[in-house]
Amino acid sequence: MSSSAQPPYASPPFDDPDADVIIRTSDLIDFRVYKVILGMVSPVFKDMFPMPQPKNDNHPTCHKDGVPVVTVTETAETMDNVLRIIHPMQEPRHLTTLEQVVPALEASDKYMMNQVQQALVKYLLSFAASAPLRVYAIACRLKLFGTAREAAKYTLQGPVYSLPSPMPRELDQLPTTAFFYALLQYHQRCSKTATGTISSWIQLLKGESLQQLVWFSSSHAKECAAGSTIKISDIFRIVPVEVPVRLWWEDYHRAAEDAVRDRIAGATVTEPKFLEPFLQRATACSTCRTRVLVQLPLYSSQLAKRIDDAISKVGPS
Ligand SMILES: [Zn+2]
Repeated sequence: MSSSAQPPYASPPFDDPDADVIIRTSDLIDFRVYKVILGMVSPVFKDMFPMPQPKNDNHPTCHKDGVPVVTVTETAETMDNVLRIIHPMQEPRHLTTLEQVVPALEASDKYMMNQVQQALVKYLLSFAASAPLRVYAIACRLKLFGTAREAAKYTLQGPVYSLPSPMPRELDQLPTTAFFYALLQYHQRCSKTATGTISSWIQLLKGESLQQLVWFSSSHAKECAAGSTIKISDIFRIVPVEVPVRLWWEDYHRAAEDAVRDRIAGATVTEPKFLEPFLQRATACSTCRTRVLVQLPLYSSQLAKRIDDAISKVGPS
């Protein structure tokens, strides 16, 4: 190979003439880097660097401009994204697509660059809100199971049967459908946990004075229908007391259970749109009207917190 046919150097800082090794990419761009830096972050590269050899013009493909050349299968774009993360005084590139993040992650895995992988995982998770299933599949394939669990949480924001179309191509790359099955099971467990939290709402009242909650007041307008009678204990009573709950309040919990099956998150039960019909029914009653506008949003935010806490404890299997 004549010197004029040599691949070009990458853009700065990867054209540094003092750097002592060249990484040659699959699309033939040469990155000049320092062995000591690359060796510190990657045991694979460290082992790959040849021992110091005398310059030998008979092996031009192994050396260029007096330094050894290591050929890699990654493209220049991917190597640039990876090397900028470890290069001193360089800001990592802002990766705006999964197509940029994934090859860089694959390279960090292949070359055992743990710190680079940690930085790239943050990029990967930044796509979890908009493309949770893709991020989940990518993380599973790369055996980043902690990241997969994080992405799985984002999939709870929509019904599990509302799958994106077309199917994310990353799912096709999974070695087995077991991962997808595990995701469905995770949804099921979270759904059961969320609805179970709502159905055990009575626990929320422990230690509360029942009179403080307007829907437990003893007299209501005739139109404010009573629902079931429930037994409740509080700090003022040793023997549980029978309390009729307002029907609108009971309906709020039934609707909440239905709603969290589709969107498994505490925020589902606090949204103004969700609360509105129940507030409307309550404000039609002269008694409920007095405090419901404060108490129901407060109560629902406590319920939401309990739902989120319970979901966060649901394990991967
Ligand atoms: Zn009422």
